[in-house]
Amino acid sequence: MDLKISDKVVFVNAASRGIGRAAAELFLKEGCKVAIASSDQTKLYATAVELKKSTGTEPEWVVCDLNKPGDIENAVKAVSSILGDIDILVNNCGGPVSGKFDELNDNDWTDAVDQVLMSAIRMTREVLPGMKAKNWGRIINITSISVKQPIDNLLLSNSLRSAVTAWAKSLSGDLGEYNITVNNVAPGYTLTSRLYELAVARAKESGDSHEHVLASMAANVPLKRLARPDEIASMIVFLSSEPAAYVTGQTIVVDGGLTKSTY
Ligand code: NAD
Repeated sequence: MDLKISDKVVFVNAASRGIGRAAAELFLKEGCKVAIASSDQTKLYATAVELKKSTGTEPEWVVCDLNKPGDIENAVKAVSSILGDIDILVNNCGGPVSGKFDELNDNDWTDAVDQVLMSAIRMTREVLPGMKAKNWGRIINITSISVKQPIDNLLLSNSLRSAVTAWAKSLSGDLGEYNITVNNVAPGYTLTSRLYELAVARAKESGDSHEHVLASMAANVPLKRLARPDEIASMIVFLSSEPAAYVTGQTIVVDGGLTKSTY
C-alpha cells in the first residue's frame, strides 16, 4: 500500500526512546521529513545519530520539555523554520507518575495535567494554523489501554488519558472541514524502557523478579506476548497516511487483545 506521505513534515514528541522513537524511525523509512523532540538532550542527540544509521536519514532534533509552554512554542517554531509547516503531529509524552488516590497530591495532579493533557493541547494549537492553510493535517495522540480499562495504581494516567480522548473527539468534529484528522493510538503492554522500569518497581514491591512480572503481563495477553514498539508505530504511521483519510475521532487499541471492552 502506498501511504502517500513521503513529502510530509512530521513532528514526534517524547521520541528519544520507546514508542516515540519507533514512530520516528518508521516515518523516516517512509521518506518523511522528521523532527524529534524530548526533554533529554543527550539521549535525543544519540537517538538522532542512531536513526541516521538505521534509516540513512538523520532527523532534526529539538529539546522540548512538554511541561513548559515556552518550550512547546519554541520547538514548533524551530521545526517549522527548518522543515516547513508541520503536516503530521504525534502527541506523545512521558508516562505520569504511578500511585493510588491517597498517594497523590495537588502537585502530582497539576504536573500530570501539564504533561499529558496540556502538552497535546498546546502543541496542537501551535501547528493548527499551518495545517489549516494547507487544508491537510494529521494529529495522533498516544494514550493507553487505560481509556478502555483502568490500570491498577495508575490513577493519573487513567484519568488524564480519558481527558485527552474526549478532547480529541471534540476537536475532530471542529477540524474535519479543514481535512485534518485527529485520532488516538492506545498501546497495551509494550516492551520499552518505561515498561521495564514499571516491572522492576512492581518486582521490588512483590519480592518477585522483574522477569517474572513481565512474563505474567505477557501471559494475560491473548497473543501471549508483549508488543514491540514498532507494532505501535505501524498504527501511528497508518493513521497519518492518505489511505486513512476517512478515519477521524477514533481510538485504535493496539494491545494483542488484552482489554475486554467490546467497543
Ligand atoms: P518511555 O518512558 O520509554 O519514553 C518516554 C519518552 O518521553 C522519552 O523519550 C522521554 O525522554 C520523554 N519525556 C519524558 N518526560 C518528558 C517531558 N517532560 N518532556 C518531553 N519529553 C519527555 O515511554 P514509552 O513506553 O515509549 O511510552 C510512551 C507513552 O505511551 C507514555 O506516555 C506511556 O505512558 C504510554 N504508554 C506506554 C505503554 C507501554 O507499555 N510502554 C502502554 C500504554 C501507554
